[in-house]
Amino acid sequence: EHNILFLKGFMILFLSCLTIRLNFCVSSLPSSLKTLPLQGHFNFDQVSHAARDFGNRYQYYPMAVLHPKSVSDIAAIIKHIWQMGPRSQLTVAARGHGHSLQGQAQAHGGVVINMESLKVPEMQVYTGNSPYVDASGGELWINILHESLRHGLAPKSWTDYLHLTVGGTLSNAGISGQAFRHGPQISNVEQLEIVTGKGEVVNCSEEQNGELFHSVLGGLGQFGIITRARISLEPAPAKVKWIRLLYADFTAFTRDQEKLIFAESTFDYIEGFVIINRTGLLNNWRSSFNPQDPVQASQFKSDGRTLFCLELAKYFNLEDSDVVNEEVEKHLSLLDYIPSTLFLTEVTYVDFLDRVHVSEVKLRSKGLWEVPHPWLNLFIPKSKIHNFAEGVFGNILTETSNGPILIYPVKKSKWDNRTSVVIPDEDVFYLVAFLTSAVPSSNGSDGLEHILTQNKRILEYCERSHLGVKQYLPHYTTQEEWRAHFGPQWEAFQQRKSVYDPLAILAPGQRIFQKSI
Ligand code: FAD
Repeated sequence: EHNILFLKGFMILFLSCLTIRLNFCVSSLPSSLKTLPLQGHFNFDQVSHAARDFGNRYQYYPMAVLHPKSVSDIAAIIKHIWQMGPRSQLTVAARGHGHSLQGQAQAHGGVVINMESLKVPEMQVYTGNSPYVDASGGELWINILHESLRHGLAPKSWTDYLHLTVGGTLSNAGISGQAFRHGPQISNVEQLEIVTGKGEVVNCSEEQNGELFHSVLGGLGQFGIITRARISLEPAPAKVKWIRLLYADFTAFTRDQEKLIFAESTFDYIEGFVIINRTGLLNNWRSSFNPQDPVQASQFKSDGRTLFCLELAKYFNLEDSDVVNEEVEKHLSLLDYIPSTLFLTEVTYVDFLDRVHVSEVKLRSKGLWEVPHPWLNLFIPKSKIHNFAEGVFGNILTETSNGPILIYPVKKSKWDNRTSVVIPDEDVFYLVAFLTSAVPSSNGSDGLEHILTQNKRILEYCERSHLGVKQYLPHYTTQEEWRAHFGPQWEAFQQRKSVYDPLAILAPGQRIFQKSI
């Protein structure tokens, strides 16, 4: 009994010392950070912005926000934390434009680096053979578009929405309707400058430090902070023919999508979306699409059926308008859509690429932008897309949610299997994106709880039916789930972590690795 009492006493004393020591580490940190010589500055008071994101569901407050002015600011802070070793609890999250969905760019009690403050290197466009642009990792894609257009050039691969940062999309993949041809954005990067989890600044490319280069692409921020990226460019068109066609038959819809992604001199952009149980079709389409024949479009009634809309774009310059018209007509004549449902419009290239921003402005004005966004993005193997559609559209989902449901195929051959991104093991796979907005305080079908339950049912259905689905912009809470997500890639992912960020300082909001204490 005496021994047990002694042991208890010892344990209490030991734990108290440990707590005091940890508290000392944490409380002494702000002052140790303050002493770092920086060109930028820390903010310790106004940090609430860094605890929010587009998903609007998770809020973790950091201890400080760094507004870097140089790459060495970022390197200095990470090196400082790295040198403190495992006794410091501090973690670091790069925050791009904060358009994550579940707190991925947040760092609870840690340091958030506001990447948009990093204005170096100044954007520079190289216009020779194989043109490219060098941009800061915190640069917005919309700014890259405008700057490269001044030279008649533009990046090849996009996301649907351009008010996202280079570092943010390259940490995931960056996919849109151009991906079938050019691959995702991570397939269109030539060089990166990275600050690793040890605070080292490393330049990398396929040829130089290739392992780090591939790790970071699609690496969910786990291996380093992207401070500069070299992005390849192509000549930019002036205008875009933007086309929408409707299908009632899912088989015909996907057959045509798959035909088009392999066709020669095909469209430049191929996407599609699902319309469930809608009547006033035109009003519900994404708002910046104004067909040339709005009367005909508005007369089309879906009668509550599930419809599938194929969305295409063909780039052109005015001087080659005739040739392009012929090409477009030729391709359309081979498709199997409902004959009266060909809707076409012509817009400038910039208006086409920046189309979702038009919706943003409208939604913001109605207070509907900053609502919870319980999005679900899935990659589905081509061989299972019909099973998926059967189980989900019109079954688990009986009405179109508040927001579009995108669906389009891409080719695996355009993805580099050395990167960290996880995709299905099949030559063609689909992105299906449920881009839902929840109406705050609603208990109905547009309320957050209802949508989350629906997402869960979709995931359970995929699991039960062994569809081989992978999440895009993945979100899990346990390491077991992450292991399952990565599958055979897990060992390599873990190994890369142990090389580039062994203390698990970076991107804690992804909840893949815990910083060891
Ligand atoms: P953040 O949310 O700030 O960060 C995302 C993750 O990357 C975090 O873990 C963060 O720590 C890390 N990170 C950020 N910057 C860096 C850096 N410089 N170096 C290393 N790690 C970094 N995605 C598509 O692929 N296609 C689409 O069409 C598409 N459309 C979208 C439309 C909207 C309206 C929204 C809100 C999102 C869309 N997305 C799309 C998803 C988007 O690509 C991701 O949410 C992306 O992470 C957002 O970029 P961000 O700059 O806001 O990154």
